[in-house]
Order: sequence, then C-alpha cells, then structure tokens
Amino acid sequence: MKFKPNKQQLLGLLPNTLVLTRGPRDGDAIYLSFDDGPHPEHTPRLLDLLAMHDAHASFFLVGKQVERHPALVERIVAAGHALGNHSYSHPPGFNKISLRQQLQEIDRTDHLLAQFDHRPQHRFRPPRGSVSLSLLLHFARRRRNIAYWSYNSMDYQHPADADMAARLRKQPPRAGDIVLMHDDNACAGRVLSLLLPEWRASGRSLLALPSEAA
Ligand SMILES: [Zn+2]
Repeated sequence: MKFKPNKQQLLGLLPNTLVLTRGPRDGDAIYLSFDDGPHPEHTPRLLDLLAMHDAHASFFLVGKQVERHPALVERIVAAGHALGNHSYSHPPGFNKISLRQQLQEIDRTDHLLAQFDHRPQHRFRPPRGSVSLSLLLHFARRRRNIAYWSYNSMDYQHPADADMAARLRKQPPRAGDIVLMHDDNACAGRVLSLLLPEWRASGRSLLALPSEAA
C-alpha cells in the first residue's frame, strides 16, 4: 500500500497527528513551504522577497544541496525561517526504497540540518509526497507526523506567471493552509513578488511552521 500526491485528499482525511496538512490557526495566517532547495540562484532571491514583506516560511531542504550551499542554509536560519527535511538525495521513488534506506536518508539530513539550527529533528516531507505505509507507521510510533500540504500551488508545472497568479487570486489559500511551492526554480518567487504585496496589504500574515514538540 502506498500513497501518492494525487491521494492528497485522502491524506487530508487523516488526523494532523499522522499527516500534517494544516498549520495552527493564527488569525488568517498561511504557511508557505518551499521544497528542493537550497538553490544558489533562486533561494537568495526568495529570501530577499520574503524579508521585504515580513514573511516567514518553511524550507524543506535536500541534504545534498545543504552540503553544497551551507551559507544559504545559514541565511535561511538567520532570517527566522524553519528548516525542514526533504531527504538526502531526493530519490524519485522514495516510497519504494526500503524503510531502512528511507530512515538513512532522513537521519543523514537531520544531522546536516542540526549543524545550522541545533535541533535534533526536523519536520519531514517525503520527495514527491510519496509516503509508504511503513514510514507512516514508523513515524506514528514515535508520535511524529509527515509534513504534507493542503494547498498545491502546482508551480512545478512551470505555468505562466500571470496564469498562476490568477489561479491563486481566484482561489487563495485559506487560514491555516500549508502551501506547497519550490525554490529550485524561479516560478514561485516571480509569482509571489506579485501576490505577497497584495496579501500583506490585506493584513494576511505568513508564518513558518512551528517545530515538532520533542
Ligand atoms: Zn521535492
């Protein structure tokens, strides 16, 4: 048995204690999340943009990229964003490798991230949202949840900026939504440069996900 990203609605039915799909209600705050970084070109631009609009976010980093760009990870932490774990090597079929290998990918990245934020463990989001039942049970036994999302921006399909901005304006994220985006390309940054000023002008706040209770 396995779950795929198109089972998002099914995963959304599971309690937040198993699969985190919504952040805590804090006014009308939403929770932006960026996967697949840090990227030497796109992540710094995104950090500039977020700072300009007093916005915070969660960065689900790939361990290999963390090793390549440590200064960027330092910058993410210094700016008050949250570090998340997105595996070490981003295997395409994460739910198909053994549980042992999955845990190695997670632990290796947790150790890397701990050097920056001094937290022993980080919220984990599996590559492509592919969750195996064995990992779900492993996490549940440890009272951990899988960090998922409730709002898929679909930026990975590289839509035209105007199209994506129009889609997000028409059906904007709601309070507590965890918004899936990526910082290994320029799409999210460009669209957010249009939307963040509007969201902030309307009083909306953008927060990093709180860390897991140890
Ligand atoms: Zn990814």
